[in-house]
Amino acid sequence: RAPAQLIDGKVFSERLRAEVAVEVSRLRAEHNLQPGLAVVLVGEDAASQIYVRSKGEQSLAAGMHSVTHRMPADASQHDLMRLIAELNEDPLIHGILVQLPLPKHLDEKPVLAAINPDKDVDGLHVVNAGRLASGLPGLYPCTPMGSMILLRETLGDLSGKRAVVVGRSVLVGRPIAQLLLQADCTVTVAHSRTQDLPAVCREADILVAAVGRPRMIRGDWIKPGAAVIDVGINRVPFDDPEKAAAGRTKVVGDVHFKEASQVAGWITPVPGGVGLMTVAVLLQNTVTAAKRLNGLA
Ligand code: NDP
Repeated sequence: RAPAQLIDGKVFSERLRAEVAVEVSRLRAEHNLQPGLAVVLVGEDAASQIYVRSKGEQSLAAGMHSVTHRMPADASQHDLMRLIAELNEDPLIHGILVQLPLPKHLDEKPVLAAINPDKDVDGLHVVNAGRLASGLPGLYPCTPMGSMILLRETLGDLSGKRAVVVGRSVLVGRPIAQLLLQADCTVTVAHSRTQDLPAVCREADILVAAVGRPRMIRGDWIKPGAAVIDVGINRVPFDDPEKAAAGRTKVVGDVHFKEASQVAGWITPVPGGVGLMTVAVLLQNTVTAAKRLNGLA
């Protein structure tokens, strides 16, 4: 059979960012409203720095108001909570994102709980998790929303399809399962205690991998023609022994791409797939929050 078609995250994320930019300029022109995003970074974590910079740049490129608050690695819980309280009250800010993970001495839970749920553009507040589970409008997590956009753009109507989500984290697996259920899929959520995982995966018309284990899902776990969404981002040594010996690493997904692309109908590459959607959805969530906070949606 023909190899799987690539689901190109670059194409869909660029399209979404362009749509967001158009909506931002409309809101500015018609309502004098400029959606504003505040990103909070505590400490010096290298990967977090990169993510935060890209969020700042992309929100500015979309015409939004964008502020990055950098706090020292030894910032106190109290300082962080005070900043959140200020941002909650700031009328120019409609989206608040605290970059995770936080340094070890800080407790993540009260920080996330302190964010006004209507400004919680990462969708991690328990109120938004509850809204999602209840099928109510809310702000939903960005990576799961991005995965759904890729599926809808690729497959159209998802109704009645069998979906298997491998992973049940609060950040990724659970919300994706909720969104698939809302789209009328028949959803199975698999995890580390699932028995005969390959057989469970083989039932899937839509297979979502959100595990955090490099290339765990093999070609013969996949139903021929299935759509495979690989959320995993794993850093591994290069296959080439020379490069590996030099300590060079690359990023791979949770799916064994080479094998899976011989069996699947569609597949997201890593990098270049779901990962690119995350920030685009963050911008979209900020626009949604700005509209709702101003009674425009
Ligand atoms: P977590 O570690 O929080 O969750 C992993 C899940 O996978 C758990 O539910 C765990 O099960 C399950 N799991 C672990 N091992 C196995 C196994 N052998 N068989 C079956 N299930 C297993 O990870 P996240 O959900 O936060 O992230 C998952 C992946 O997605 C990571 O690679 C991460 O880097 C990536 N990611 C990508 C993003 C993007 O923008 N594209 C954003 C966020 C994450 P159990 O609950 O039983 O322990």
